[in-house]
Amino acid sequence: MTSIDDSDSNTAQVGVTAASMDLSGRQYLLIAIGDAPGTTAKVDKWARDLASAHRAVALYSLPDGAGVEDLIDASTVGVRIMISGEEAEVMRAVAVARAAGILPCELFIHISHVDVINVFCPHCDTATRALARPDHTIECSGCARDLLVRPHTSSHRAMYLASVA
Ligand SMILES: [Zn+2]
Repeated sequence: MTSIDDSDSNTAQVGVTAASMDLSGRQYLLIAIGDAPGTTAKVDKWARDLASAHRAVALYSLPDGAGVEDLIDASTVGVRIMISGEEAEVMRAVAVARAAGILPCELFIHISHVDVINVFCPHCDTATRALARPDHTIECSGCARDLLVRPHTSSHRAMYLASVA
């Protein structure tokens, strides 16, 4: 085994992260955001796979994606970060990790489920939380315009992009 490869979830739209996790890291931070069964099951599987490959693993459980920053601050060079959780919080964690200097190849994610998403309005710069998916139209909470949710995201804002419909 040279990598841990998860092709069971479409994560490309969430941000720039690795397509598979290599096994050359010095330490692996496995982070569960929230405690949904699909989230913790994935982290447990990563832990088993990495243990069988004799890699150093540290497991964390966080209430939301913002807490990733403290873990990165306390980590050493050569760390790999693997994050599992609900989409919006994973996007937030990816934005935090990238801002902290973590490279795409050092970051691997699993979206266990999707709840509300954050949509960025290009007209008034307001973020609207909505139960929506790409191609849905929502009302901006800032300017009340109809927004068409795009299939693209801003990885540093951790939001879906939209156009005024
Ligand atoms: Zn707006």
